[in-house]
Amino acid sequence: MNKVNLPELTPPVRRQTSRVKDLIRRLEEEQSLSREAFITLLTDHTPEDDQYLYERADRMRRLHFGNQIYIRGLIEFSSCCKNDCLYCGLRRSNRQAQRYRLTEEEILSCCRVGYQLGYRTFVLQSGEDGWYTDERLCRLIASVKREWPDCAITLSIGEKSRESYQAYFDAGAQRYLLRHETASPAHYARLHPPEQRLETRMECLRNLKEIGYQTGCGFMVGSPGQTAAELAEDFLFLQSFRPEMVGIGPFIPHRDTPFALEPAGTADLTLFCLGLIRLMLPDVLLPATTALGTIDPFGREKGIHAGANVIMPNLSPSDVRGKYMLYDNKISAGDEAAENLAALKARMAAIGCQIPVCRGDYQG
Ligand code: SAH
Repeated sequence: MNKVNLPELTPPVRRQTSRVKDLIRRLEEEQSLSREAFITLLTDHTPEDDQYLYERADRMRRLHFGNQIYIRGLIEFSSCCKNDCLYCGLRRSNRQAQRYRLTEEEILSCCRVGYQLGYRTFVLQSGEDGWYTDERLCRLIASVKREWPDCAITLSIGEKSRESYQAYFDAGAQRYLLRHETASPAHYARLHPPEQRLETRMECLRNLKEIGYQTGCGFMVGSPGQTAAELAEDFLFLQSFRPEMVGIGPFIPHRDTPFALEPAGTADLTLFCLGLIRLMLPDVLLPATTALGTIDPFGREKGIHAGANVIMPNLSPSDVRGKYMLYDNKISAGDEAAENLAALKARMAAIGCQIPVCRGDYQG
C-alpha cells in the first residue's frame, strides 16, 4: 500500500519551552544558577533540550572564537606517580603499569617536532614524579622558553607547594592544568586514598590563580558513585572559581585499578556538561578531550558542537604513547597523534573550523 502524506495530521514542530530550556537561557544570560537549578538541568534534560543547549553553546563558541579551534601538543613526559588515585592506571599500586621517564633532550625533541608542525602550546604532563625536582623542571621550562619564546608552556604535573608553582612560573610556564576531579568532599574521598584531600587540591588551585597562571580545573563525568547533586557541586565550583580553562572527560575504567568493573561515563552526559560550561564561562578554553575521543569516534566533532574550542593531540614520542595508560583503550594513534595534523585539519574543515598557528591564550 502506498503511503499517503497527510501533513494536516502531523502536529506542528513544537518549539515549546520547558523548564530545562528556561534554565539554559538563564544560565546564558546570567552565567550562574543555583544548586537546585543545576540538579534540575542534570536530571530532567531530554534529547530535545540537549539539542537546544548545543545550539546555544555552539553559537557562544563562535561568538568568542569564530571558526578557530586551538591545538596544544601534549607531551606525557613521565608515567611514574607517587599518588594512588583509585581511577587512574598510573596509580602507584598498579604493578602492571609500564613506567618511563623522558629526558630533557627527549622532551625538547618533541617540542622541535611540534613547532615544525605548527604547535605553539606545549603541555607538559606527567604523574607526580619526584625524580623531576624543581631544579630539573625549571631548567626544562627555561630551555623550552629559550628555544621557542613564541610558545606557551602549560604544566600538568599535580599538587606542589606554592613556592614550586612560583618557581615554574618565574621560569616561564604561564598555564597550569589541575583538575579538581570532583568538588564534593565525600565523593573526592571515594576516588582517592585518605592522604589525598580535596582541600589541598583547592588550595593548589587558588595558589595557581593568585600567582597569575591561566588556570585549568575540571572533573571526570560519570566517575564511580557520582550523583547529579555531586555534579551540581562541580558547576557551583566552576561558577565561583571562574577558571581560564576547564578539562572534563568521561570516566573510563582501567583494568588494573579498583574501578576495573565500574561503568564508564557517557559521551552524552559529557557533551551536556560541555554545553553548560560554555554558557557559564563564555570565553573559557575548553578542550574536547582524549577521553571523549576514546569513547566516541566523533567525540571531538561532537565536543566542538557542544561548545569546546581546544584539541590536545598527543606529541609524546611514539614508543611511550602506549605506556601512559590512564584508562583502557586510550587513543593515541590516527588523528589523535600530533603528527597527523593534516588529517585533523581536514576533519575540522569538514565541520567548518580552522586550526590557526598561534598560542591561543585566554583573552579575558
Ligand atoms: N598527575 C597530573 C596528571 C593526571 S592525568 C595531575 O595530577 O594533574 C590527567 C587527568 O586524567 C586526571 O586529572 C584525571 O581527571 C584524568 N583521568 C585519570 N584516570 C582517568 C580515568 N580512568 N578515566 C578518565 N579520566 C581519567
